[in-house]
Amino acid sequence: MKENQLYNQFVTYMQRVADIQHATAVLHWDQEIFMPKNAAANRARQSATLSGVAHRMATSEELRSFLNELMADDSLDSIQRINVEKSNHDFLKATKIPESFVEKLQHAISESFQAWSQAKEADDYSLFAPKLKTLIELKKEEAEIVGYDHHPYEALMDDYEPGMKIEVLDRVFDQVRQQLPILLKKISQTPQVDNSFLFKSFNKDSQWDFSLHVLREMGYDFDEGRQDITSHPFTTSFGPGDVRVTTRVAENDLGEIIWSTIHEGGHALYEQGLMKSEYGLPSGSYASLSVHESQSRLWENNVGRSLPYWKHMFADLKQRFPKQLASVSDIDFFKGTNKVEPSLIRTSADELTYHFHVLIRYEIEKAIFSKEVEVEDLPSLWNEKYKKYLEIEVPSDQKGILQDVHWSYGSFGYFPTYSLGSFYAAQYYEAAKQAIPNLEQNIEAGNTKELLSWLRDQIHKHGRRYNAEELCKKVTGKGLDFNDFYNYAFQKYQTIYGF
Ligand code: ZN
Repeated sequence: MKENQLYNQFVTYMQRVADIQHATAVLHWDQEIFMPKNAAANRARQSATLSGVAHRMATSEELRSFLNELMADDSLDSIQRINVEKSNHDFLKATKIPESFVEKLQHAISESFQAWSQAKEADDYSLFAPKLKTLIELKKEEAEIVGYDHHPYEALMDDYEPGMKIEVLDRVFDQVRQQLPILLKKISQTPQVDNSFLFKSFNKDSQWDFSLHVLREMGYDFDEGRQDITSHPFTTSFGPGDVRVTTRVAENDLGEIIWSTIHEGGHALYEQGLMKSEYGLPSGSYASLSVHESQSRLWENNVGRSLPYWKHMFADLKQRFPKQLASVSDIDFFKGTNKVEPSLIRTSADELTYHFHVLIRYEIEKAIFSKEVEVEDLPSLWNEKYKKYLEIEVPSDQKGILQDVHWSYGSFGYFPTYSLGSFYAAQYYEAAKQAIPNLEQNIEAGNTKELLSWLRDQIHKHGRRYNAEELCKKVTGKGLDFNDFYNYAFQKYQTIYGF
């Protein structure tokens, strides 16, 4: 990079903003893992103070003048230019929304979150509906303030998935709507597989040891991170050299810890693969939520739920639990842990029916922001769609529309990133198979090194230089496409269910 004093000052400024954000992440991690309960109020204040400082720095006149000058500087190299342009985009977006509106929105979110918690507990949607209605009105207003090309939904989604267009989503969810039921029908017409061996009693310490082994095998660097136990697993970055994962352990459900660990491990490998020299800049940050999720799901599903992976790992697992897994083979394990069964709750859905849960939420969110449905009518719309796509009756709002926290936070446009993550993952995995000779034989031999270095080189090291679609086109030669996922799923379930 060329020496440019102003650019260097801009970098130092951006790194200071990142320092504050990462300090906030440390507080949040501690809050989830270790914090005693009486610390809650004080911790909330400390986090709010730091977030306020970060927000003021990210919207300051000082930053504006750096950006104005640098936007007109034609001596920048290509990465510097991208960093300035993306930071300028973020700055303009953040400063478009008046402070008074942000406060009004924050207030509505905290009221709506409380109402949602009570409504879920009491299984009574009417406690949530009025607050949700207020929040939706504010989010509609926000979309108008921020601006969009084709649909207000694009403005909301931009927070999670920069540059994503509704036309791309419509196209991919149309494919889901048409093709996924065909596969589900084939599966439901063949005998169900057995996964009862997962629900015996498994010593928690032995499960924990296995999870550490899993992370090490993936290439997670324990000198630059650690794993802890929590109830809702997450990955968090405190900046270069410290990316932490959390996992969940259940005595009577061996699957919990295995795939939580692999999933979060995939997120962490992405963060550990970002360029340390680009700290605080778009080129040193993740591209988008769907790209992040593509990395976690590639490891969790394409690798971690594959037969080659378990041909290697199963012997080790069986040694730790010889009694519980006595009559189970690696193939039984692979089949059982890929059991497909329509269910009510998104977070415990299998790899295939999961996408119906997201499709349903996408259709409802779009209807909300196209003003096609009233808040009062959402539960019946929800239940209708579960009947239509998954052929199940929703017994209560608690197990239906109140199950997810996202809408109570005002996170509209978030759900699609989960499915997009799986679809991109299938595309990337296919590209990796083309690029790496004998990839699956290597996995079967316990070697995922080439895969990780391919992901590092093709995806991780680019940070936010490309948005999700640009990155996908660069790596696979085409944009988002459901077909790779469909073909991958078809082959996998054909092996398992024998249709
Ligand atoms: Zn994830």
